[in-house]
Amino acid sequence: MFTPDELKTLRDAFRGPLLGPEDDGYDASRQVYNAMIDRHPRLIARCSDVADVMHGVGFARDHGLPLAVRGGAHNGPGLGVCDDGLVLDLGGMRGVRVDPGAGTVRVDGGCTWGEVDHATSAFGLATPSGFISTTGVGGLTLGGGIGYLSRTYGLTVDNLLSVDIVLADGRFLTASADENEDLFWAVRGGGGNFGVATSFEFRLHPVDVVHGGPMLWPFDRARELMRTWHDYIIGAPESINGWFGLVTVPPAPPFPEEHHLQKMCAVVWCDTSPTPEAEARFASIRREFGAPAIDFAGPIPWTTLQSLFDPLYPPGLHWYWKADFFDTLSDEVIDLTVDHGSRLPTMHSTMHLYPINGAVHRVGPSETAFRFRNANFAQVIVGVDPEPANTDRMIAWARDYWNALHPFAAGGAYLNMIMDEGPDPVKAAYGGNYDRLVAVKDKYDPENLFRINQNILPSSMVA
Ligand SMILES: Cc1cc2nc3c(=O)[nH]c(=O)nc-3n(C[C@H](O)[C@H](O)[C@H](O)COP(=O)(O)OP(=O)(O)OC[C@H]3O[C@@H](n4cnc5c(N)ncnc54)[C@H](O)[C@@H]3O)c2cc1C
Repeated sequence: MFTPDELKTLRDAFRGPLLGPEDDGYDASRQVYNAMIDRHPRLIARCSDVADVMHGVGFARDHGLPLAVRGGAHNGPGLGVCDDGLVLDLGGMRGVRVDPGAGTVRVDGGCTWGEVDHATSAFGLATPSGFISTTGVGGLTLGGGIGYLSRTYGLTVDNLLSVDIVLADGRFLTASADENEDLFWAVRGGGGNFGVATSFEFRLHPVDVVHGGPMLWPFDRARELMRTWHDYIIGAPESINGWFGLVTVPPAPPFPEEHHLQKMCAVVWCDTSPTPEAEARFASIRREFGAPAIDFAGPIPWTTLQSLFDPLYPPGLHWYWKADFFDTLSDEVIDLTVDHGSRLPTMHSTMHLYPINGAVHRVGPSETAFRFRNANFAQVIVGVDPEPANTDRMIAWARDYWNALHPFAAGGAYLNMIMDEGPDPVKAAYGGNYDRLVAVKDKYDPENLFRINQNILPSSMVA
C-alpha cells in the first residue's frame, strides 16, 4: 500500500506524531470509547493543524488506504477507527476561541464538549451540545446534536454558523449560509461524509447557572410518570428541558444507600430561566409529578450539569445502542417501554427519551440534512457494561426492546446513536433529504474516500 520511502515523505511533511503498530503508544491510540471496538489501523496520524489534515487525506487517497476520521472517539460503532487503514486523529487540534462581543465561538475539530464549555462558561455563554462532556464536537455536531439546550436553542447544527473543511481532493474551504451553501446544508446532519471538519463556528447564548439535575421516583410509578412527563414536556415552555430515563441507581454516593441498585424512573432537568421563575416551576413539577424519592434538582452551574454523568460512563465500557424517533408516546408505547425497561440487563444499561420539540421544530425538515423536525422524542436503548461476558445478554435485550417499539416509531433513528447497521437505517434517517445528500456527495466526494461513517453512497457506486 505504501513503501517506507513514501512513509518517510509523509513523516517529513507531518507536524504531529505518526504511529504504526511498532510504535510506543500505538495500542493506546487505537482505542476508542466503546471497549467493544478493537481495530488495528496501519497508521495513526495525530494532526496538529489543517496542513496535517491535508497531508493525511492526500496520503490515504493516493495510496488507496481506508480513512477513518477521529474526533472525540465516542462513536458507538467505532467509526473513528478502522482496520488496515489510516486514522486521522484530530485529538491534537483542540483550540477554542470565544468572541464574547459577537456571541460566537470557534472550535477546532478535535475538541470535546467539556473543552468548549470550559472556554465559553468563563463568559456565561454556551452553545447547545449533548448530555455528557467527554463527547467529541466533530461527530456530535455533524450528526445533529441533541442535548439539554435543544428545546431552548435548537440542535447543535441549528447553532452552527460555519465550518472549515478539508475535502477528498485536498482542497480546503469554508461552508456557511453564504458560502458553499450546499455543503453547509449537508454537514448539518450528514455526518463525516463530505470531508474533515477542521473547525466549527457556533452561536452562543447566555447560559450560566441553570436550574436542573435529576429527580428519581420508584419504578412502580414508571407508567404513570412517563405519561405525566410526556404531557408536560409537549406543552412546556422552551426554557425547560427534561429527559426521561429508566435507570438503575448506582451503588455510590451521592445516591442514598437505601436506593442503591434499585431500578427507578428519572427525569433530568435543565431550565435556563431566571431563578425565581425556575424555582416556582420546579415547585409545581414536584406537585404534579409527586415528590421524588431522590431529588437533586436545583441551581447548578452549566458545566457541572454537562459533566454530571461523566463519572458513571468513563471510557472503556462495552456499549451497544439502538434508537428511534417518536412523534408521540401512546399508552401502548408507554406500556412496552416500561415493560422492557424493567429488565435492564446491567447497572449501566438504560433507556432514555430526549425531547426534541420546542426550538428544534422551528427549523423545517428540509432546511438541514437532519430531518426529524416533526418528531417530539429521540429514544435510545443502550446496553452498557464493563464485562465483555455480558455483551450477548445486553445486545439481546436492546434488540428485543427496539423490535417491540419500532412499529410505533416515526420511521428512522438518530444516526449518532446506532451501531453500524448498513445502508437501510441511513436512508430511513434522511428520508426525503437522501437524494439531495447523494448529490452533495457526488460533488464533494465522488470516490467515497470518506466512507467510514454512516455512509451516503455516491450515485456512481450504487449497484
Ligand atoms: C457517552 C455518550 C454520550 C453521548 N451523548 C450524546 C448526546 O447527548 N447528544 C448527541 O447528539 N449525541 C450523543 N452521543 C452520540 C455522539 O454524538 C456520537 O457518538 C458521535 O459520533 C460522537 O462524536 P465523536 O467525535 O466523539 O466520535 P468519533 O468516534 O471520533 O467520530 C464519529 C464519526 O464522526 C466523524 N467525525 C468526527 N469528527 C469529525 C470531523 N472533525 N470531521 C469529519 N468527520 C468527523 C468520524 O469520522 C466518525 O464517522 C453520545 C455518545 C456517547 C458514547
